[in-house]
Amino acid sequence: MTDKIKLGISTCLLGQPVRYDGGHKWDRFLTDTLGNYVDFVPVCPEVECGLGIPREAMHLVGDPAEPRLVTIRSGVDHTERMLNWARRRVVELEKEDLCGFIFKSKSPSSGMERVKVYGPAGSAANTGVGLFARAFMDHFPLLPVEEEGRLHDPKLRENFIEAIFTLKRWREMLHLQQGRGALVDFHTCHKLLLRAHSLEHLRQMGKLVAQAPSLAVSELYARYQNLLLEALARKTTTRKNTDVLYHLMGHFKKDLSADEKQELREIIDQYHRGLVPLIVPVTLINHYVRKYDEPYLKGQWYLHPHPIELQLRNHV
Ligand code: SF4
Repeated sequence: MTDKIKLGISTCLLGQPVRYDGGHKWDRFLTDTLGNYVDFVPVCPEVECGLGIPREAMHLVGDPAEPRLVTIRSGVDHTERMLNWARRRVVELEKEDLCGFIFKSKSPSSGMERVKVYGPAGSAANTGVGLFARAFMDHFPLLPVEEEGRLHDPKLRENFIEAIFTLKRWREMLHLQQGRGALVDFHTCHKLLLRAHSLEHLRQMGKLVAQAPSLAVSELYARYQNLLLEALARKTTTRKNTDVLYHLMGHFKKDLSADEKQELREIIDQYHRGLVPLIVPVTLINHYVRKYDEPYLKGQWYLHPHPIELQLRNHV
């Protein structure tokens, strides 16, 4: 890829002292590891909408579907200020070509889910969404989004990062060339990756690509992009990966010896049973791809969807 992935992020996660108390919530994985592949576009809704540092802490109150953003001690309502700013900011962010957003969890402005919303009696329900996060997700409904806390879960982390790398490749293709042939090439080398997310979407995308000659290029791309983003939002699972691994194995029917087939079957089964991480069968398959010179599989992004240094497939 020619340049880094652009990702929106809650500013305090970068270690910038923008929190209400002048503190931050620096996440080292994001800056020191993911940051090697990503250009972050920081957004701090509370500072950018004009509230200073330090400022009075706020929380959400009222109806969880349409909560108010109110300061905790003095009860000042900043809802309109925040919503007016957020409406403008999401339009500005269209120019950034973001491949996703990482939100700070639990924040009444930036939290993506399960933010506390206080009722009149002072009791709280964990059912809210931060006001800026809501505006962002409404404006970019299919863009990959996550919270820093959820990214500590290895499976969610792998899914999110795979989605942003795939979206980056899609965007890059859009910038370089737009034609039916380019889309067919993109689809061909993402087939197994898509299958690991959603077989149903892979089938729909296959049908769409088959109709390509009869569709206007703009319509073809728009429909394909929607299906791509929907597919990436479906999480991979051990079962889906196992299906892809057996599918991959089928490509070597004529190449592998009985002993090699047995070994690969055993390793896929060990992965399926949670005894070894995904990287183990994938490494063995990559070895066979090289050994038996399988051109179709060499091009499959499923076998190398993100840099190995991120170690995203090393967990069981
Ligand atoms: S959680 Fe959001 S609003 Fe609060 S400091 Fe971080 S970026 Fe700013």
